[in-house]
Amino acid sequence: MKNEPRQKLIDEVLKRSEAKTWDEAKLEWTLDDAYYLKSDKEATCVCGHKGLTYMFKLINKKTKEELFPVGRDCITKFGIDELNESLENFLQFRRLINAVKKNVKITIETETTEAFLDGCESLAVRTRLINCALLTYLYRKDAFKTKDNPYYPWTDYAVLFDIAKRKKPTSGEIARAQSMIDKIIIPFAKKYIENEEKNEKDDKKEDSDRWFFKLK
Ligand SMILES: [Zn+2]
Repeated sequence: MKNEPRQKLIDEVLKRSEAKTWDEAKLEWTLDDAYYLKSDKEATCVCGHKGLTYMFKLINKKTKEELFPVGRDCITKFGIDELNESLENFLQFRRLINAVKKNVKITIETETTEAFLDGCESLAVRTRLINCALLTYLYRKDAFKTKDNPYYPWTDYAVLFDIAKRKKPTSGEIARAQSMIDKIIIPFAKKYIENEEKNEKDDKKEDSDRWFFKLK
């Protein structure tokens, strides 16, 4: 079955867990850190799957043991909401970073024929990128703390989050959201990329083939 975890993953998890069955043991794990690889490097998941682009480290909450490197497919095999959410937030953030790197213009489409699944995905449909979970993730990363608003980043976040949920935002709200994307989110992403590139250059270790990415 496609959704079943590979036996090798089950074995590696059980070796490091308190519980003796997969169904119980998988609940002991939480996502700790993510790494991404230099373009010419490859990694192999603990399950044996080759060619990972992102590697994740899982920590067992009871035994404190680590499981590394784990690919994203194997993380979804745990079937735990908290793990899936952390993974999805990370991937969504990387999509934003990659889009800004490629100079993709992030604009809010005013006309859209797509039916919204729910209010919270309205902005996601309109920008094809920025969803509510990503806004919260960016807020936690201090993206809303800007020169213009250093003390109350929550207020900007709340405004944008509120507009992001509207099924039919007014043209004024769309303009406001677009301006916040241009003045807060894009500059934050650019600065983030700049730092990342700087870290990559500073990274002089010969054997260093991966970069750390803080998840929380
Ligand atoms: Zn795997």
